Amino acid sequence: MTFDPETTTFLIAGPVRIHPRVLRAMSMPSLNHRGDYFHGVVGEIRELLPVLFGAKGRQLILSGSGTSGLEAVYSSLVPKDRRTLVLSNGNFGERTDLIVRRYSSSVTTISAPWGQPLPAEQVHAELAKGDVGAVCVVHNETSVGLANDLTAIAPAVRGSGALFLVDGISAVAGIPVEIEKWGIDAVVAGSQKGLAAPAGLALVHLSERAAAALHPGTFYLDLAAHLKSLEKNDTPWTPAVPLFLALREALLLLKEEGLATRLERTHRLAEASRAAVDALGLSLFPERRHASDTVTAIRNPEGLGDAELRKVLERQYNILVQGGQGALTGKIFRIGHMGIADWPDLLVTFAALERILGKAGRLPAPGRALAAIVERMP
Ligand code: PLP
Repeated sequence: MTFDPETTTFLIAGPVRIHPRVLRAMSMPSLNHRGDYFHGVVGEIRELLPVLFGAKGRQLILSGSGTSGLEAVYSSLVPKDRRTLVLSNGNFGERTDLIVRRYSSSVTTISAPWGQPLPAEQVHAELAKGDVGAVCVVHNETSVGLANDLTAIAPAVRGSGALFLVDGISAVAGIPVEIEKWGIDAVVAGSQKGLAAPAGLALVHLSERAAAALHPGTFYLDLAAHLKSLEKNDTPWTPAVPLFLALREALLLLKEEGLATRLERTHRLAEASRAAVDALGLSLFPERRHASDTVTAIRNPEGLGDAELRKVLERQYNILVQGGQGALTGKIFRIGHMGIADWPDLLVTFAALERILGKAGRLPAPGRALAAIVERMP
């Protein structure tokens, strides 16, 4: 077998595999983005967005990858006259810090080593000082395969009156995000993760409080301008029309499956992946209790670099997984199992890993990883 992008088992940490219905939805002739048909599409998307977020609120669609949503939120909600707290324990936490510092000169960053949980006590202590206007956190740190426990900080953030701004790019439709219960004011989702739409759109949920607090940020990503246009199912600038068509279809698929069912499947795939990693004699990168359900990050096998491992998976078995990012480049590999990923994807991937490690004389017990998955199948 050789690598074939059309048939590959595609398990990177997002973008994820796209359902053929979603792909077909994009093959429409050009549409007038100011015409009734397209406004109807936007209207349908607006009705479907609460299915994705599991909550109602002010919800927006931005043409641009997930980072555009982050830039929109931070530039227009990070307060100018109060301190902003940034919480960071991975590559995307560090990027949050970079973005927020473009828009505020009063930022305190609380960090934990990559792969370790955030120090909730330290967050509480900073909030108790009473001058924090916003807290920015990555819910699911895709770079290290870790889900941050927002329940450990949400009541304190709420109690402090600070805006709670969450990067949910790989969390939304992947792990439970309790927007209302936790009092989240803004959450950004990426189209290419749990939703399984193509990359290139950011979906933003705002609380009423956040919508009222918007101040002008960047011009292109001005959330107030987007909200105003959206009232008429319109966008301020030319939208990525084919991606909107794909988004509508991906949201319909999610509605048909149900958000709870998608989260449950993602969780079961994650549990099976973690058990299979143990059976391969490998170890998870993040602290196990905090391992993410959307992506499993695994330390490289001893004596085998992930670049080499991934090359064999790709060229010999037509399977794509992902390497590490930033400081973890060359140290870990990551298997994404969100969106429409399913049991056959895991079986074939771990079968190939068993074979590769077996050939290298590094497999503790043949068949165990596959058995670990089969035992957890529904
Ligand atoms: N934040 C998180 C948690 C992510 O996983 C990603 C992408 O993987 C991003 C931010 C950046 O999103 P994008 O590459 O879509 O701009």
